[in-house]
Amino acid sequence: MEQALKSSWNTKFIVTYLKRNYTKKFDYNDITDEDRKRLRFQFEDGSINIKCCCKSEIEQGISSVHRIYNKTKKEKHARDCCKYHRYSNSSKYEPGWHEEEDGHFTIHLQKEGYVAPKPTNNENSSNSLVNTTSTDLNDKEEKTAARPSNAKSKGQVTLLGLAAKLNMMAWERKAEQGKLPDHSFELLHQIYGLIKKVHLRKGDAGLQAAFITNNNPAATSLVNKRGFFFYLLLSRVFQKESQRTNRPVFYVTGEYKLGSKIKSYTFLISSSMYQQAQEWYNSGSHMICGFAQPYNPTKSKSEHNTLFTCKEMVAIHVTQQGLYCESNYEKIAYEYFVSKDRLFFKPYRNMIEYNDRRPDVIFIDREPTILGEIFGINEDNYLLKREEKLAWAQKNSHLYGFWYWDAYQNNRLYIE
Ligand SMILES: [Zn+2]
Repeated sequence: MEQALKSSWNTKFIVTYLKRNYTKKFDYNDITDEDRKRLRFQFEDGSINIKCCCKSEIEQGISSVHRIYNKTKKEKHARDCCKYHRYSNSSKYEPGWHEEEDGHFTIHLQKEGYVAPKPTNNENSSNSLVNTTSTDLNDKEEKTAARPSNAKSKGQVTLLGLAAKLNMMAWERKAEQGKLPDHSFELLHQIYGLIKKVHLRKGDAGLQAAFITNNNPAATSLVNKRGFFFYLLLSRVFQKESQRTNRPVFYVTGEYKLGSKIKSYTFLISSSMYQQAQEWYNSGSHMICGFAQPYNPTKSKSEHNTLFTCKEMVAIHVTQQGLYCESNYEKIAYEYFVSKDRLFFKPYRNMIEYNDRRPDVIFIDREPTILGEIFGINEDNYLLKREEKLAWAQKNSHLYGFWYWDAYQNNRLYIE
């Protein structure tokens, strides 16, 4: 069945040499490194265009690492094209997101309340880092995007889920453009581009209008209701004694980069949030995301407000380059891939052909595409799933490469 399916697949793309008005077909799977290099050169200088043979509208580009990628996000490859990755909607990151025709999203965002969510808050927080590693997606997502839901919150996006998905989407876009971020600030920039497309209600001004860096306290009913949206790199957690009451006041500071300047915002937080924020700060890089209101709303609208009262806040653990990671193993692995100059992303969608699972990583700088798993837990249940995944990989080696790391056995982390 799979074989028959494969042989009817489109595996070709067509290159038009513009000056000579001449076309040539290449095969994604058979193209030589030489040809890739040549195409990259010609692509950069604008003398060719590349289109997939499955549909003429799908323009392709070739990246600096000689990977052929989609230039357009709008058109998807045909179902019988080898570049068509069949994603399902069953990932926990999908419910509550409604994609509009113009590439915008309307989300049903659950209210977080003031206190941070539980995932990194267990008594055994060092253990929970390991437990959220890899393995089965249902288990891991239980702890992240989809916190235990009651009837009221069903189908709604949690703030944590929003923070994580925006992060992964932004990273995937950078990967598709052929260059991963060098620093968290670069990824934040890409995230801000995505925020423009996210709306809490269909047709409203969206999160961008309420985005803190807009510095526009006059904006929208959204602002009044929920506060300004922020998404920043956590840079400081501290307390100061109030001169008026002699009691401690708690703060977190988050940063982003505008041009070459680092800008920061400070948020007034509760003492319980302070405990939580210290844990975040002490356990590695975090991005913080939430809603806040100007501490001093009476300040003139033209003045730059940098002190806010935090209304809702969550944090996600990120790598040096800003990628969300669900465990320390993931962090180690993702940073290692970057050091090896590999082009990859962390998927937020499930892949139908991968038994509707979500791999920990997808490498897009090789043909065929490589799926990757980080096996972090030494428990029968998880090891059984590890076996299943390895068996799947063997059976599907003609479609996907497979990479894995047995972190639970303290095996050496290695990739070419
Ligand atoms: Zn195609």
